[in-house]
Formats: sequence, structure tokens, C-alpha cells
Amino acid sequence: MKSYVKEVERLIEEGLNEQVAVQTFQMLVNRFADDMHRPELEDFKLEIAKARKDDRAFYRSIIDEGCGAFPFPIEMSWRNVKFEPKRVKRCAICSDYYYDVSRNGGSVTCYNNGICANEYEIRRKRAGTILEPAYRRKVQEIPTDFSPKADDAQANAFMNKVEMTAWRNRVEKAF
Ligand SMILES: [Zn+2]
Repeated sequence: MKSYVKEVERLIEEGLNEQVAVQTFQMLVNRFADDMHRPELEDFKLEIAKARKDDRAFYRSIIDEGCGAFPFPIEMSWRNVKFEPKRVKRCAICSDYYYDVSRNGGSVTCYNNGICANEYEIRRKRAGTILEPAYRRKVQEIPTDFSPKADDAQANAFMNKVEMTAWRNRVEKAF
């Protein structure tokens, strides 16, 4: 069995399926993002940590409501689901926020059924950087490939660029 961070191991020991235990923390990252999303990873982590320190009731309610939305086979609440803000990372492939459950803290991709992990391996074996692989892709495929959220910084940057180009083209045509 793979080894996970202690908060994940704890839920597995209490009887939760391994995959479900991993996804629980991803689900909570999304819940925190719903309430306090920040475009910068460090700001987002800080915001969650601040809530844990200064607004415990709110922090716990996010965990309890998140867990309450699913029919878990075991009792799940802030008492046994110990969400650690410092484990939140940004996926190297889709750039969504995710919870690094690996014991050594060395994961670089999210846990979407291995899609990003596989893509990462493919790019790692090729020339070029992870974010800008040397092989050619159709530009239009980039934003739809992993359907980034509307608030995703990279997607926004991409959309701004598209809009700017469209705007420039219109302006040029007008003259
Ligand atoms: Zn990903």
C-alpha cells in the first residue's frame, strides 16, 4: 500500500476506502476555494490558515458541510478530518488547486484519475519544460483540454490574450 500523510491514513484506518480518503481532501480544497479562492497559491493557503486560526467555527463548518454532502460509510467531521492548509498545491498540468496526500509531499499533479499524472510523465520524457512542451499542440486545444475553472489564473490570462488580439484586429480593421 502507498503511504499517505497522517490525516489520510487516519481515515483509511477508520474504515474509509483509500481512493475515497484521498478524494475527501480534494473535495475540501474545492469547498475552501468556493469560499476563499485566491488566484495565488500562497494567498489561498494563507487565507485557509487564517480561517483555521481566527474563525474556527467557520473553518469547521466547511469541513462538516463538505463531509455531510456525501454518504460516507464512517462518521466524518472536523474531529477526524484534519485538513492541513499547507498541503494545498497547484497541479503542474491543469493548474487547479489540489491536496498533496503523498507522505513525502513530493506530488506535482492532482488526482483526477491519473489524467494529469500521465500527462506529466509524457511531458517529462520529452524535451522542453513541463508547462511548455517542445512538441506541437493546436493552440485551441489548450484551454479546453482540462477545462480550467473560470477563475483559474492561467485560463484568465489566456482569455485576456485572446480578447486583446481580437480587439486589436478590430481596431486595425477600423482604420
Ligand atoms: Zn491536474
